[in-house]
Formats: sequence, structure tokens, C-alpha cells
Amino acid sequence: MAMRFSILGSGSAGNAALLVTEGARVLVDAGFSAKKLGQLLEPLGESLEKIDAIFLTHEHGDHAAGIDGLKKFPHIRVFANSATARAVQSGLSWRADWQCFETGARFRYRDLEVESFSVPHDAQEPVGFRFTSGHEGDLFAPRRSLAYLTDLGHAPLNIRERIRECEVVVIEANHCPELLKADTKRPWSTKQRIGGRHGHLSNHAASELLAEVASPRWRRIYLTHLSRDCNSPAAVDRAFAAVRATLAACEISVVLPGEGTPFYELA
Ligand SMILES: [Zn+2]
Ligand SMILES: [Zn+2]
Repeated sequence: MAMRFSILGSGSAGNAALLVTEGARVLVDAGFSAKKLGQLLEPLGESLEKIDAIFLTHEHGDHAAGIDGLKKFPHIRVFANSATARAVQSGLSWRADWQCFETGARFRYRDLEVESFSVPHDAQEPVGFRFTSGHEGDLFAPRRSLAYLTDLGHAPLNIRERIRECEVVVIEANHCPELLKADTKRPWSTKQRIGGRHGHLSNHAASELLAEVASPRWRRIYLTHLSRDCNSPAAVDRAFAAVRATLAACEISVVLPGEGTPFYELA
């Protein structure tokens, strides 16, 4: 097994995912309370005691709100760039074990190769990640990569390269532009922010990106961070119908708000 992966939850109420390799158990984002994270890990046979580290994409509450509650788990290292670390630390009641990286740098954490890259979003220094583990030609732990890409207003060219060489791509399909336009709960300024260049990726923009890259390496794509009010499974199905047909060998899973996914094994 090169890696196992599960989305614990996604959406504006909280985002977190679990990545397990031979040598590391890490969370990507921690947007739920520590108690809730524990509850989400339990059915997978996991717990916060067993988590080694957390990788943060950015400081927004739906991605980092759980860090304060991790006071009881001081062994967990928190990886982020320094701008994100500063923003999160300013709201904490304790000093987290920050492990700062430079955006764009590649580094190793145990048996994981980690690469961060900047994404356009209205946060201090938001990033996406690519995690790779295993070795080329190794029968038991072949080299496998996963890209985690959420909270981005648009997809600049460099992002296409990051997702091409991965077996698993986690990507935001935040809203349907028509449903966003018709929404009556949000003020105009918020809608402008969400749909803007530094907001969130629409179904259409995400499906266009996938259709353009259409990598033969892809085995599974997770569509995440769906807006409860401004998106729907039907709107997602419509927007991704063509790309589903093109990527017949790859499974596209829609992760509904408030739902998680079972472990996916990347052998
Ligand atoms: Zn955000
Ligand atoms: Zn978010």
C-alpha cells in the first residue's frame, strides 16, 4: 500500500481529510472541532492520538478552526507557510508546534514528499498540496500522488501541471453560478467574493480544468467543498457529465456537504 485516503468532511461547515502511509498519519486541514475530528476519525479506526501532523491550506475557519482544540494533543505538528501560521496562531489559546514551509518548496515529512503551491483565494497565503509516497517499481509500495486543491477562485496554468501526475485529485466544485446568482441569503458583495477570481471554483470551472488536463494517470477525483445553498447534486451532475464520459477509467466521487468518504487505497 502506498497510501490510504479519506475525506472526513468538506464544505463551509468544515474541511478535513486523512492521509495514511506506512510511516505517517496526517490530516490535511482541520476545520472541525477536536471533538468532532475525533468522532469523524473513529469509524475509520483512527484517532487524534495516532495523528502525527496536520497540513494547513489556509487560515479560514472552515480549514483551521480545529487547531485551538488540539491543545490536548501537543504531539501533533502543524505544517503551514509562515503567513498562515501567524494568522492561525493569533487566534489560539496555546502555542502550536508550527513547522513552517516556504510556499513552492518541496520537502519530506517521514515517507511523504510534500509540495505546496499557491492558489488564488482571499486568504493570507493559501496553498494547494501534492503528497507523494512510495517508490517507482516497488510492488508493495508503488509511487503514488494525491493533489489537494480547494478554495481557489480560478485555476492558473501551474495548477494544471500539479494535478496531471497524480492518481487522486481532490478538487473544489463549490457552486453553480446560476444558483449563486439566485441565492437570497447572501448579500451581493459576498456573492461577488465567492464567484470572483480569489473566491471559489464553480462547477463549470472545475469541470473545464479536468477536461483540459484529462490525465490518463487519474484513478479517482473527489469533488468537494460544495455549497449547501448554491450548489446541488443535480447541478454537479450536469456540469460534470461530459468530463465523466471522457474520463471513463477514473471514478469521480461527489462529496456532499456534511459527508465523508470511506478509505480509498492507492495500491
Ligand atoms: Zn477559504
Ligand atoms: Zn473553505
